[in-house]
Amino acid sequence: MTHGPDDAPRLPVRVARPTTFLERLPPPPSSLPRWQIGITPPDLSPWLAGNCGIPGVMHYEGRRPGPHIVCVSLIHGNEFAGAIVLDRLLRRRIRPRAGRLSLVFANPEAMRQFDPRDPVRARCVDEDMNRVWLPAMLDGGRSSHELDRARVLLPVIVTADRLLDLHSMLWPGDPLVLSGLSPASRAMARRVRGVDVCVADRGHRSGCRLIDHPRFSNGRAAACLLEAGQHWHEATVTRSMQAVLSLIGPCCGLPADGGALPQREMVVTDVITARTGLFRFVTPFHSGHVVADAGTVVAHDGGDEIRTPYARCMLVMPNLRPARGHTAVRFARVDAGTRPPAPDQ
Ligand SMILES: [Zn+2]
Repeated sequence: MTHGPDDAPRLPVRVARPTTFLERLPPPPSSLPRWQIGITPPDLSPWLAGNCGIPGVMHYEGRRPGPHIVCVSLIHGNEFAGAIVLDRLLRRRIRPRAGRLSLVFANPEAMRQFDPRDPVRARCVDEDMNRVWLPAMLDGGRSSHELDRARVLLPVIVTADRLLDLHSMLWPGDPLVLSGLSPASRAMARRVRGVDVCVADRGHRSGCRLIDHPRFSNGRAAACLLEAGQHWHEATVTRSMQAVLSLIGPCCGLPADGGALPQREMVVTDVITARTGLFRFVTPFHSGHVVADAGTVVAHDGGDEIRTPYARCMLVMPNLRPARGHTAVRFARVDAGTRPPAPDQ
């Protein structure tokens, strides 16, 4: 079901090899690249109090019944392209004709820390807000800025019928829409405009994403996560707008046909977690890169080689500087029934 068109046996992903003393040492510190900052954080002051009793949530109801559609921005505070889109739509006074619409600014406090001289910092206040959505964690006694904020937003999340979580990427890569493996979420992903690739996966070992909340993984409600392009590019705002309009346009009477529908459908087979602080790719791959051959070494993790387990393996969102215990890359293959992507040159 989740296998590609060829039935060649899988090769091992992680292969230990003898290492020299130098290879076991931590790498010398390197500076991050200079990021291009083409957009600035939006002024969200009209929306921060919310209009429904929940700060940062703008909620509208149509005259006719219909689904509750939820668009979420700023789960990561430095990814504000989605917040720019929601702000623009709110200033245009969009309203649903049918159903309910919630536009959410998840973590404006993190965005407030944004400093173009150190743009990566504003991702969160205390912890990654896209790893706190496991019910046991939300119900537990621990407290952090993001966890407490997730608790405040939860009533909106657990009543959503369709949820689009707007993100962008630090490292270069092809835009994509991620979903869990539920049929409803995968069907929703296929209808999101402005991106070329749908990727279905099981989430991260390090915590539960918003789109993996049981509301979406177990039931008929659907959720997708848009990775619209690099964080601070105007094209990322354009793509986010196309994706949002493809979801809310029909209920709000707005054109929803900008941007193409995804042409490729991939399924993640392997989530590679960095086991050491020494994880390094052999070259700075961009997300969406397709490795032609099985068994190709793509990274080293301490003494281990990380190899592609099958031919035409797509690298999904390589994290070129992963910390130990964090996702370094995901391997994905073409889902059965769709055409394989051409290998990169
Ligand atoms: Zn993000």
